[in-house]
Amino acid sequence: QAKTLGRGRHHFFDVGLRERMQRRLRMEQDLRDAVSSDQLWPAYQPVVDLRTGEMVAVEALLRWTHPRHGAISPAEFIPLAEESDLINVIGKEMLRATTRELASRRSGQGLDLTLKVNLSARQLDDPHLVPAVEDALANTGLPAAALCLEVTESALMRDQAAAAEVLASLRSLGVLLAIDDFGTGYSSLAQLRSLTLDTLKIDRSFITGIAESRDAAAIVTSIIAMAHAVDLTVIAEGVESAEQLELLRTLGCDQAQGYHLGRPVPAAELFGQ
Ligand code: C2E
Ligand code: MG
Ligand code: MG
Ligand code: MG
Repeated sequence: QAKTLGRGRHHFFDVGLRERMQRRLRMEQDLRDAVSSDQLWPAYQPVVDLRTGEMVAVEALLRWTHPRHGAISPAEFIPLAEESDLINVIGKEMLRATTRELASRRSGQGLDLTLKVNLSARQLDDPHLVPAVEDALANTGLPAAALCLEVTESALMRDQAAAAEVLASLRSLGVLLAIDDFGTGYSSLAQLRSLTLDTLKIDRSFITGIAESRDAAAIVTSIIAMAHAVDLTVIAEGVESAEQLELLRTLGCDQAQGYHLGRPVPAAELFGQ
């Protein structure tokens, strides 16, 4: 009895594993094909200044419209792309396309907006990253100070010495740097100081409960105080209600982003045709 069950389980496990591996392989091949098509495209989400209420920046967020499966979440395909060199290819194209878009919106419509682009850990290891950023700026005419590169706290903490070196090179180009998803890793104030960042984005998980929970609000309060103590601009991500927005304003948070202020949408929807 037990033996049959055991064998059955073993068999079940193998099929599941094989299916998952096949699905991954298919998805990776599909992603390779997607790179040279128009299936990958940037959505833009507004970032709002809490004092003026004005949109001061946009974050570019990668989207994949699969020809058969429809929209696939970056949470699903970015990790896959990160397992190979694909993330570097996709990341460079993302930089090229978004700097071009923003440069043309800034000059054509007189919009004084900062562009935020996400970088993954693996892109920090790519020796071509810094020249790619330099090229994107030179080719589009986007001012370096209008580009902010976002790196997650966990990517920065992976290999701190190497990350610090790349960030210093990026910084020497004149671009701004942000630590993304702050609070999900274990960085200290001292580490943040030494990285010479400009912006700290408080992870959405800390914003979710601030209107209901005094503890959550207290944590956000202390993150803001800490960030301001080392001269970082603070952005709250994942703001979904007017109550959260008002509270963040009261707490002295500088900027905010979230569905309450605007969802990530195609450029034409945010800026007009
Ligand atoms: P992230 O950089 O922290 O981006 C914020 C994520 O939160 C985005 O998810 C955005 O759509 C979502 N979001 C914004 N406001 C709200 C809100 O009010 N409520 C909720 N529930 N979610 C909100 P998305 O677009 O699915 O991207 C997920 C992650 O994938 C990003 O997190 C980023 O780490 C990564 N990613 C996206 N685009 C790129 C890219 O071009 N390159 C790299 N390396 N990573 C990217
Ligand atoms: Mg981000
Ligand atoms: Mg984030
Ligand atoms: Mg996040």
